[in-house]
Amino acid sequence: GDEPRKEDLQRITELMDGFKASKALFTASKMCVFDLLQSRPGLSAAQVAEEIKASVKGTECLLEACVSLGLLKSKERKCQKPVYENAGLASRFLLSDVPFSLQGYIQHCDKTVWPLFSHLEDAVREGSNQHEKAFGKKSKDMFQDTFYNSLDVKLRFMNAMHSIAKVTGKAVATAFDLSSFKTACDLGGCSGAMAYEFTKSYPGLSVTVFDLPAVVEMSEHFHPLRTDNRVSFVAGDFFKDDLPKADLYILARILHDWPDEKVHVLLSKIADACTPGCGLLLSEIFLDEDRGGPSRGLLQALSMSEGKQRSASEYSLLLESHGCAVLIAETMLDGRTHSALQSLNMLAQTE
Ligand code: SAM
Repeated sequence: GDEPRKEDLQRITELMDGFKASKALFTASKMCVFDLLQSRPGLSAAQVAEEIKASVKGTECLLEACVSLGLLKSKERKCQKPVYENAGLASRFLLSDVPFSLQGYIQHCDKTVWPLFSHLEDAVREGSNQHEKAFGKKSKDMFQDTFYNSLDVKLRFMNAMHSIAKVTGKAVATAFDLSSFKTACDLGGCSGAMAYEFTKSYPGLSVTVFDLPAVVEMSEHFHPLRTDNRVSFVAGDFFKDDLPKADLYILARILHDWPDEKVHVLLSKIADACTPGCGLLLSEIFLDEDRGGPSRGLLQALSMSEGKQRSASEYSLLLESHGCAVLIAETMLDGRTHSALQSLNMLAQTE
């Protein structure tokens, strides 16, 4: 038969090895390798090993793997072992205290998503995600029963959302010109990171973050300085309680978590609260119409519980059935550094 093509072998090998690269990144991040090399660039493997309290052999392997993944750079030295420093990707995204830090999201992937994926076969057989097997807890509502049961897990989940919202928030806020809106309500707005990006982008806008009480009680933790008094927090359940009044409702990464029935409950509550001219901004991964991609969305669906990923036209149908005219559905992928994580945005307005 034909010899396999080199590109095909390369592609299939990358797919087989993808999990090793992820775990190497998670581990180096968890062991604070990137923070260490930022404050002290040019350490050898032995010096790093001593600082992170690990074996020299293991540390050397981890550092070399990170170099090969483009996260670190090594410098050869005459007759001595090489020294290491962060590559650009690491200093932009992998330090704990940079504006676009993805550390919170990386910890969530390592501690929550990884265990779910290790039970993927069961998830596929049973058609449900594996929270109980992975974490030993039955979960009816993923947020209230799994994430917000312990302070540790809650903070980890909130840190993950906070870091993604900080990286993508500005692009979500500026995907459309929203300057005609004076008040917004960010439903499921979590730590408020997205709300702060909105007020930064629109000097005339005030934003109310609406989220479950367990989340709202942590808002000081994420914004100890309360730098902007145009952001406020209201606690409640968006399926049950009255929604705050606003001209613009924001649903960022909310609807994919819920089946159509629940989406209808939420959208009809929004429609009831809306007056003519009100807007609804949706930010989600939109699947291609033939559901052929993007992989990021389809892979995420494998570990989701009640929800599902939808295409732009599926979202449009849901919105239109509540009297929203979907004005624009436009991609935001614009080649900026954060585009890999960027959701797409859709703006609908009531007639
Ligand atoms: N909008 C944020 C973002 O884009 O980063 C967070 C998205 S996170 C996937 C979903 C959010 O919805 C969480 O903050 C969660 O607490 C909130 N949430 C879940 N169920 C809720 C409910 N019944 N009422 C209000 N908020 C809820």
